[in-house]
Amino acid sequence: MKEPDGVKKVLLIDHIEGQCRCIIGFKDGDAREAYMCGEPVYQRRGKKLSSWCAYHYGQMHTVAAQQNRESDQSAASPQAVSIVRNP
Ligand SMILES: [Zn+2]
Repeated sequence: MKEPDGVKKVLLIDHIEGQCRCIIGFKDGDAREAYMCGEPVYQRRGKKLSSWCAYHYGQMHTVAAQQNRESDQSAASPQAVSIVRNP
């Protein structure tokens, strides 16, 4: 999935339903003037409308999957230790 080139970016105040809400930058570096991606949102048949375009939808889910893997590992370590202590 290619990253959107930003041609459809919209200011927060101009954002309308159906446009990707991912913040991609700020106008003049002003946090109150956020630019959102603005690409048409990703939609799966029978699912409610996503807030993200296909690219950012994929990105969010990739990040979430990585975080899940990390928390799995940290949860597994103390368990391994307790197995050693109590065979
Ligand atoms: Zn997007």
